[in-house]
Amino acid sequence: MAKYRCTICNYVYDESKEGKKFVDLPKGWVCPICGAPRTVFVMLAENQKGATEEKQVSHTVSEVLVNQLVEWGVQYVFGIPGTSTLGVVDAIRKSNGKIKYLQVRHEQTAAFMASAYGKLTSHVAAVLSISGPGTTNLATGLYDAKLDYSPVLVLTGMVARKQIGHGSLQEIDHYAFFEPISVFNKILMSPEQTTMLATLAVKHALVDRGVAHIGIPNDVQKLPCDMEILPFEERMPNFAYGQEEVIIEKAAKVIDSASRPVIIIGLGARGQKTKLLRLAEKISAPIVSTFKGKDIVDDSEPLYVGCHGGIGSTAAGQLVDKTDLLIVIGSSFADLSMIPKKRMIQIDINPLMIARRYPVEVGLLGNSAILIPKLAAKVLEKHNTAYIQEITQLKQDWLNQLAKEADAIAKPIRAPYIMKVLSEKLADNAVISLDVGENCWWFGRNFQMKHSQKIVMSGNLATMSFGLPSALAAALAYPERQNICITGDGGLTMVLGDFLTALKYQMPIKVFVINNKSLAMIMQEQKVERYQSWQTELHDFNFAKFAEHAGGYGIKVTHPEELPTAVNNALASNVATIVDIDTDPQRFP
Ligand code: FE
Repeated sequence: MAKYRCTICNYVYDESKEGKKFVDLPKGWVCPICGAPRTVFVMLAENQKGATEEKQVSHTVSEVLVNQLVEWGVQYVFGIPGTSTLGVVDAIRKSNGKIKYLQVRHEQTAAFMASAYGKLTSHVAAVLSISGPGTTNLATGLYDAKLDYSPVLVLTGMVARKQIGHGSLQEIDHYAFFEPISVFNKILMSPEQTTMLATLAVKHALVDRGVAHIGIPNDVQKLPCDMEILPFEERMPNFAYGQEEVIIEKAAKVIDSASRPVIIIGLGARGQKTKLLRLAEKISAPIVSTFKGKDIVDDSEPLYVGCHGGIGSTAAGQLVDKTDLLIVIGSSFADLSMIPKKRMIQIDINPLMIARRYPVEVGLLGNSAILIPKLAAKVLEKHNTAYIQEITQLKQDWLNQLAKEADAIAKPIRAPYIMKVLSEKLADNAVISLDVGENCWWFGRNFQMKHSQKIVMSGNLATMSFGLPSALAAALAYPERQNICITGDGGLTMVLGDFLTALKYQMPIKVFVINNKSLAMIMQEQKVERYQSWQTELHDFNFAKFAEHAGGYGIKVTHPEELPTAVNNALASNVATIVDIDTDPQRFP
């Protein structure tokens, strides 16, 4: 029997109390508090089996810490063992698989994996790293989590208490290092702090949505400790909150007065597809997403017209340009989304996001799961036939343009054709990890999302090399689904060593490399800014041969007609696979 947490509102479903097993719940089952679909639930913990004598007996700070994290649903720890973490590593070993340790080849991968896991599941995975170099190697991955509001727990080993400040081997100032990165940053100095710091760290990561850090001096890890494990329930707030009716009514009136409303959705509308469509249909409005919100509504939905911004669709751009009201739901207004100043109402769970860039006429503070249906109930029904026809035509024009770009015979192979083939071949529920660069640009623009697919990316930090580690995290979170990485030759090279991690743990991820032998996006920027193309060419490397040599499966694709079969073969493979596709670095107008 297990417990599951709704990641939209924090409601906990306890199988032992409810009597029904979660896995047996019918397909249409939703969270009884916020109405979110069952797919957003994550396992919190297996219930302790009845009698106390079966409970794990803890003896040290490390063991209590690990058991406390298990109780709060932390299932994975990523890292490389080392001198200053041996106590915690051994406690994880003794947990008998309740918390799983994945050993990676570089700490940066561990941090990216935890960040990606948080973005995918809205739950916490942990990174465990040694003092000094192991810790500094985490920086990029943790900044990725910070900037994309991903919940991550970092445990670091430190030199023994009596050596702190001596300039000991591998000693850095952990508190100072983590202060600008984290939402919670504490040093565990005495056994009595163990359960409180562990639970507060997970709580802050989830509520403040960021990186929580606990530094643990080497000697403290081994100290005796016999503290009671604190349960999750009754220690977390429920997030099913919304605005006063009078303010919702005000927002509804503003919507009623608009003739060309556009709904813009970001990550904060995650899991709200059905409720969004009901609102859009009732007021005859198109739905536009930010790139990060590309997987919330299917591309096949008539009222969804694609992303906004540099990678956006012409339909989204034109509809947003001509709108007289933007209804913004759960978007952080990143520069790249290029959302213009318009008359606006906004729904966000974070008060600091309301009117962050532009003034808003009505700001609705609360959970979009609660507020979208409340707003939909209050607005007047509108049948704006002319507007709907215009939306349909603009969307069709955009789809026609994408079809034209997907040249199936040009060589080197064109990126739009790769995106077309992948759109057709990937499973309806594939989990797609993206990298940064030209590969991501083409994906955002040309890939057609299907029902239940998920994407994960480095949104605000926009760091190259995120793709492969993210696919490793996806393979843990969704082992039953296709785990796809779409990357470039530049980004993949930075973390290539961790392809071995996929092999070590038998994670059959499928890596598609848009291999254009260059830093193509930077090359494009040099062109646009009339600089000479310089230092953006990359050594031609055969990633397929590397995959084969490492013990995985590799496919090199040079001719466009080979691509569909190569994709089929990769998707059918049961080992980690790299499909290296010789790709044209050029953009086409
Ligand atoms: Fe819920």
